[in-house]
Amino acid sequence: MERFADFYQRSIEPQTRDGFWQEQAALVDWHQKPVQICDYSNPPFARWFVGGQLNLCHNALDRHLAKRADQAALIAVSTETDTEKTYSYRQLHAEVQRMAAVLQSFGVGKGDRVQIYMPMVAEAVFAMLACMRLGAIHSVVFGGFASLSLASRIEDAQPKVIVSADAGSRGGRVVAYKPLLDEALKLSSHKPQAVLMVNRGLAPMDLRAGRDHLWTDLRSKYMEAQVPCTWVESTDQSYILYTSGTTGKPKGVQRDTGGYTVALAASMPHIFNAKAGQTFFCTSDIGWVVGHSYIIYAPLIAGMATVLYEGLPIRPDAGVWWSLVEKYRITHMFSAPTAVRVLKKHDPEYLRKYDLSSLQALWLAGEPLDEPTAQWISDALQVPIIDNYWQTETGWPIMTLCNGVEQQSSKFGSPGKAVYGYNVKLIDDKCGQELTAPNEKGVLAIEGPLPPGCMQTVWGDDARFVNTYWQSIAGKQIYSTFDWGVRDAQGYYFILGRTDDVINVAGHRLGTREIEESISAHAEIAEVAVVGVADALKGQAAMAFAVVRDASKVSDAQQRARLEAEVMKLVDSQLGAVARPSRVLFVTALPKTRSGKLLRRALQAVAENRDPGDLTTMEDPAALVQVKELLHSWV
Ligand code: ATP
Ligand code: MG
Repeated sequence: MERFADFYQRSIEPQTRDGFWQEQAALVDWHQKPVQICDYSNPPFARWFVGGQLNLCHNALDRHLAKRADQAALIAVSTETDTEKTYSYRQLHAEVQRMAAVLQSFGVGKGDRVQIYMPMVAEAVFAMLACMRLGAIHSVVFGGFASLSLASRIEDAQPKVIVSADAGSRGGRVVAYKPLLDEALKLSSHKPQAVLMVNRGLAPMDLRAGRDHLWTDLRSKYMEAQVPCTWVESTDQSYILYTSGTTGKPKGVQRDTGGYTVALAASMPHIFNAKAGQTFFCTSDIGWVVGHSYIIYAPLIAGMATVLYEGLPIRPDAGVWWSLVEKYRITHMFSAPTAVRVLKKHDPEYLRKYDLSSLQALWLAGEPLDEPTAQWISDALQVPIIDNYWQTETGWPIMTLCNGVEQQSSKFGSPGKAVYGYNVKLIDDKCGQELTAPNEKGVLAIEGPLPPGCMQTVWGDDARFVNTYWQSIAGKQIYSTFDWGVRDAQGYYFILGRTDDVINVAGHRLGTREIEESISAHAEIAEVAVVGVADALKGQAAMAFAVVRDASKVSDAQQRARLEAEVMKLVDSQLGAVARPSRVLFVTALPKTRSGKLLRRALQAVAENRDPGDLTTMEDPAALVQVKELLHSWV
């Protein structure tokens, strides 16, 4: 086996890069082979596998039929409706063709947009794959969003058809989607030609004659539908997906077809050590990039079974995911630190009750994985816990420990090393120079071209793509991740926070993440967010908002003062007094996005008495209200 260091080098050197990706392209079925691997004649726009023609749905389904038609492809589990259904590759192929025929009957064809606003049900997967089959572009909007977020995405993507459902359900509470969709359609100036509704029988729906249709009615007309795959150019768009909106207005990430298919296909052996016939369980939502790539496309491209799970990780109890691992002999699991922190509040015995011997490893992504959380889940599961760092923009991991020897040497708190294909750099944000010595802090950046699978541009806005992400440094085009990090002497990276969140205390630049990591080492702290707040004396001061494990321990002012002093002392001893938060405030919840990321910008704005801006992606508005009240009570 080639050493990873050589494999990596080959993937990024301009002389060997094309050969490297040509090899990876062989993992994919092409209708027409590419004539050029990478066209980077118009930087920063990279065109991968130029001249190649393929179909993503063909690669995910059709090509497996000869060998594994009766093997499980999709295992749809809902602990909200108490249903479980397994679709074989043959059955999934049939359902996708029915869905494709229905979409076609509304006039959907190559290049048309279809918006998918759905809970975690199998029909959402049919719809996404059906779009790929027709060469249409999907735009999946997370089902937890309400009408305003939905309306802005309808305006932006201009879908011909919207596919939705009567309702989703979360923790046993039904959330009706149709009224939110109707409201969004009123707010939006763009009107789709048709709305296709999946009726789960959870909430009543008003159907508008002429516009709204029921999936079950139309499906029955197309039971035997055979819809051939539309071959598209490698560089034709596959989908649009909006970033999480943690730092501001979400960006519509536009993805190609060939580069994405190859990148995902290659990631299965090289990152996940995954093979056909195994079972992948990614606990994300189809509305996020992790869900697009690792609930749906990558496992199916690899000929695996994939688990689609609707429900909470702790209902009916905190053992539910692990019971699925036992039942379906799940080999690969992918989740987020936020989910592990939820589990961590429960007895680890729940995880040990089941036979987890099939499980090879657990990958976690989406936000920093703090050491105590990593240690807890590692002890409970006894499998490698592998942090991986990426973005909606990239579509697949930028940093992790790739398959092979490297996974044995993980360092908690680090997502590992740069993944093949990504020419990762650290840039000094003041002088714009590349930092090459170990342990220097800088902005994490990627030298162009971005590897296959990454965003092509911002949907409908090339200028925004160039202006937002790219800068020219010493004649090279450099993509900024807007994350702040450091690399140690062994090449392991540590993410220190977002560049927006860097705190400048009396000229010292500190990542919020560093301070958070230090505070979360305190046994009584369950979760913490640190923000920089304007300070007349020091420029900025760190302020911490902490959730304690046991609220009764901070019920009076004296207890709070004790714990606050302890936390400050801990930071002093680990990072030095310069990083010490000016205040540690105790709250019961932190403001987060719907995908579980801390909304530090909102905390910071409230702490500085500013307008917190666009909060449409916020999960629980009460968390911010609490912070406001707290700040006012001690000011
Ligand atoms: P927006 O770009 O709209 O502000 P967002 O950056 O939260 O939202 P995503 O693309 O969902 O949108 O998230 C990517 C970001 O999440 C990364 O840039 C990084 O800040 C954070 N992140 C993801 N994985 C990790 C990880 N393993 N460790 C630390 N941070 C991570
Ligand atoms: Mg981002």
